Amino acid sequence: MPACPQCNRPISSDAISCPHCHVPLKAHGHPGMQLYRAGEDGFLCPTCVYDADGSCNFPKRPEAKSCTLYQKIGASQALTPQEIYRVPWWRKVNRFWLGIAILLGISVLVSFL
Ligand code: SF4
Ligand SMILES: [Zn+2]
Repeated sequence: MPACPQCNRPISSDAISCPHCHVPLKAHGHPGMQLYRAGEDGFLCPTCVYDADGSCNFPKRPEAKSCTLYQKIGASQALTPQEIYRVPWWRKVNRFWLGIAILLGISVLVSFL
């Protein structure tokens, strides 16, 4: 169970804000938008990959205390949409061409009878 970054008490992983100290944990009140927070005496940017590769153009950089895009250096990368939403092969088959193939198969079968 994760801990609140401010009061360090246990919280639910999908909590929008801490039920104890009420610090916001998700950005814009959206449960799917993680809001990363730095500790009391530091900033997020020195340990962020986007600061390291110079690709971040957020105005809060390099002294962001909270950020939605923070990606810790060395942490495993987030899953891609293809990895999250795996589509089984039978859902990828085009129904139109599948119908044509079935009709052709039936036609060939009937012609042999
Ligand atoms: S993405 Fe956020 S934490 Fe990372 S460098 Fe930019 S402002 Fe800092
Ligand atoms: Zn708290």
